[in-house]
Amino acid sequence: MDKCLFCKIINKEIDTDIVFENDRLIAFQDINPQAPLHILIIPKKHIPTINDLETSDKNLVGELIITAAELAQKEGFDKAGYRTVFNCNEMAGQTVYHIHLHLIAGRNLTWPPG
Ligand code: AMP
Ligand code: ZN
Repeated sequence: MDKCLFCKIINKEIDTDIVFENDRLIAFQDINPQAPLHILIIPKKHIPTINDLETSDKNLVGELIITAAELAQKEGFDKAGYRTVFNCNEMAGQTVYHIHLHLIAGRNLTWPPG
C-alpha cells in the first residue's frame, strides 16, 4: 500500500510521536488533537475500513481496544473516562483509509457526537 499515509507511518517513512508499538500494532499521537489526549491505535496490517475486517482479524481488533484501555490507564484517564471511536467511511468522517481507533480523553466529551 504505497500511498497509504498510515502504512508510511508504520514503515517510519513519516515521523510521528509513537507511544506504543509491537509486532501487530502501533499507537501514535494524532497530529490534530481534538482533546488533551488524542492517540490513534492502528494495526500494521493494511485494512481500509472496518467493513473490510475478516473473522480472522478478531484478535487483532480486540488487541487494538485493549491497547486503548491500557494507554488510557497509563495516561491517567481510566477513572475519569475516555472515548474510543472507529470512523467508517465518508458520512462518519473517515479521512484516512487504514483503520484506526481514536483514543480521546481529558475534557468533557459531549453525546451524541456531532
Ligand atoms: P479519521 O478522520 O477518523 O479518518 O481520522 C484520521 C486522523 O488522522 C485525524 O484525526 C488526523 O488528525 C490524523 N492524522 C492525519 N495525518 C496524521 C499524521 N501524519 N500523524 C498523525 N495523525 C494524523
Ligand atoms: Zn495502510
